[in-house]
Amino acid sequence: AEPPQDTDIHQLDEDTVARIAAGEVVERPASAVKELVENSLDAGAETIDVTIDDGGTELIRVADDGDGMSETDVRAAVREHTTSKIDDLEDLESGVTTLGFRGEALHTIGSVSRVTIESRPQAVDGGSRDAAGTKLVYEGGEVTTVEPTGCPTGTIVEVADLFYNTPARKKFLKTTATEFAHVNRIVTRYALANPDVAVSLTHDGREVFATTGQGDLQAAVLAVYGREVASAMVSVEIDGDELPPGPLESVSGLVSHPETNRSSREYLATYVNGRAVTADAIREGIMGAYGTQLGGDRYPFATLFLEVPGDAVDVNVHPRKREVRFDDDDAVRRQVDTVVESALLEHGLLRSRAPRG
Ligand code: ADP
Ligand code: MG
Repeated sequence: AEPPQDTDIHQLDEDTVARIAAGEVVERPASAVKELVENSLDAGAETIDVTIDDGGTELIRVADDGDGMSETDVRAAVREHTTSKIDDLEDLESGVTTLGFRGEALHTIGSVSRVTIESRPQAVDGGSRDAAGTKLVYEGGEVTTVEPTGCPTGTIVEVADLFYNTPARKKFLKTTATEFAHVNRIVTRYALANPDVAVSLTHDGREVFATTGQGDLQAAVLAVYGREVASAMVSVEIDGDELPPGPLESVSGLVSHPETNRSSREYLATYVNGRAVTADAIREGIMGAYGTQLGGDRYPFATLFLEVPGDAVDVNVHPRKREVRFDDDDAVRRQVDTVVESALLEHGLLRSRAPRG
């Protein structure tokens, strides 16, 4: 029998669904930058140049020298839930090694902006099949242009007029300075985590920083934070038996002299298995190591890489959430505290303190 017709409940059209979904992934320019930089890293880029105008609200451009894409690839890349990175849930559960895997970034970004992709794959076996390269324009969820173009191998993605078709969301964007600060934080995080990739950030025509890509964390810190901070950093490098008991297998990176501190937590750049995360346990461990040597509400600089067994972390978290928790937060906190404290003590940067009970 025909269902009764007197209902207000109806299915949303595809376009509306896509724009609502986009809001979950792309909150602001920095979230689009994050997705594009992750794609460049996943493509094995050695150079990633990020250029933004007006805090990224006018234009975001991410250029890389990674694997690049063929015309077929570019067309596929902007479709919904298309990825080259996993095939099924099994792949996901056996542990993804790429930063992306959902296959929704390019599709969703393009549903709330005007995206232009120029890409050219690395020549396969010296072949010249894709000698030209492909330019694809995708705006408001629709592919409007696909044509051959001359471009270097690699990929350039431009995102213009973010939220032009979702005015309500556009209204929530903050000042240029605030949006820029978010973008800067994101690009900095990836630059520090990938010192073997040359990462640059340019805002309104002015270069903010550029790392060399020579593989040296100290050099990357110098490039992004400047000389004063870089010269105040000491290294942390502990693994195996030297670690107190707990889930962490190794901790390495750089932490600052207690006198070199800021009133914001944002300079605590912490990574678990290569992913930029925040975690109360890690932060409290770091802060515990400094003890009373930091004034109230003051935070050191720290760029710390923690390794835990693969099955101990769930990567299938919400794309925007960076907060992680460990099974045994207390143990992680103790491990980080001990490791950072011994690095500071070793460099004579801590007044000795009474042993804690
Ligand atoms: P995901 O990263 O989750 O796979 P995206 O929508 O971000 O999904 O990208 C879709 C696909 O497009 C990727 O799986 C990849 O194959 C391709 N792609 C995107 N950006 C790049 C890039 N910068 N270089 C090479 N390939 C890319
Ligand atoms: Mg991606």
